[in-house]
Amino acid sequence: MKKLSLTAKIFISMVLGIIAGLLLQGNPDFAVTYIKPLGTIYLNLIKMVVVPVVFLSIMQGIISLQDIRKVGRMGVSTVLYFFVTTAIAITIGLVLANILNVGGGYVLQGGELSYEAAAAPSFIDTIVNIFPSNFFKPMVEANMLQVICISLFFGFGVILAGEKGKVASDWIDSFAEVSFKVMNMIISVSVIGVFALICPVIAQNGPEVLLPLLKVILIAYAAYIFHVLVAYSVSVKCFVGMNPFTFLKGVSQAALFAFSSASSVGTLPFSLAATEKLGARKDVASFVLPLGATINMDGTAIYQGVCAIFIAQIFGVELTLANQLTIILTATLASIGTAGVPGSGMIMLAMVLESVGLPVEGIALVAGIDRILDMGRTAVNIVGDCSCTICIDAMDKKLSAKKAAKAAK
Ligand code: ASP
Repeated sequence: MKKLSLTAKIFISMVLGIIAGLLLQGNPDFAVTYIKPLGTIYLNLIKMVVVPVVFLSIMQGIISLQDIRKVGRMGVSTVLYFFVTTAIAITIGLVLANILNVGGGYVLQGGELSYEAAAAPSFIDTIVNIFPSNFFKPMVEANMLQVICISLFFGFGVILAGEKGKVASDWIDSFAEVSFKVMNMIISVSVIGVFALICPVIAQNGPEVLLPLLKVILIAYAAYIFHVLVAYSVSVKCFVGMNPFTFLKGVSQAALFAFSSASSVGTLPFSLAATEKLGARKDVASFVLPLGATINMDGTAIYQGVCAIFIAQIFGVELTLANQLTIILTATLASIGTAGVPGSGMIMLAMVLESVGLPVEGIALVAGIDRILDMGRTAVNIVGDCSCTICIDAMDKKLSAKKAAKAAK
């Protein structure tokens, strides 16, 4: 018999987790006491490896590109691509949620709301906060934007140091490899982790929590699918000249892994393999993908848009066009600040709600179904990262070919 791939095994374990959760509905304490801790250990391990993987792989990517100007050019195009696709994503989410009246039919029940949100920083503070005043603190606190900032500076430092930077470059190469191996170890226990994460959610909440919120789930998934089919298909066709089906088939394994693990960073080895198979060079992929896994979250932005409209509608708050534009801006920023680990998009939703004065307690309503929404949004996040990688790679190849032709003249 053909050996099952890890992705298939993880998918099966997720289905088994749902079935076990349904069976344990009569006894949710068992699931919470004995099964949930395994999920928590798995989550902790992913969080533990996020900082070294992102820090080292971005530096490794920068160093292997060798040329600061090239990194700068590529960085600017990458971030631009991320911004534009994220803004498109959130717009799709908002339009669908408005047209399909996402909050319609939901009856708000007394006593089901309580959610404590952290205060959201202002726009300027968000920018200032990207630059750390200490080397270690961002690593300890897993402040990913600051971690990225440090890796950019030190990556450039290694290039500028030239011959003297060689030892640092070898160390980074070696430690990056080691942290990927650690990540692979953690991924190999995903079968247990995924089961243990989904089972208590279903056991505690049951299908009852899903039904009234079915509309939110359906609309979010419709927007996820629409965005993947439209935005990414168009971009790979235009920038790479690739058939969208070839692209979607190429990234399907990575998307499926993202779907079951709900972690963009945990999916990095799969997205690296997928983009390389689709023809992207390793140095480009190892620069763009870890960056994308931390700051490019189109699925998360869609989710935040749909939830914001849902919460506004059920609380009877009219959102003006200006409010909706504010949501586009804050959801784009919030998705950048979302770490690529399960559940973080929901925490950042508070920032979006607060920006337009919506009640943050509304998050409590969607918390029960967060895992289901998270799986879809993570898959979209990953497809977005992969599409960006192959587009940036193709653009860079074209540019290099042009330069070579000019030089030959
Ligand atoms: N789980 C998502 C990811 O890793 C982030 C989120 O919660 O939206 O991409």
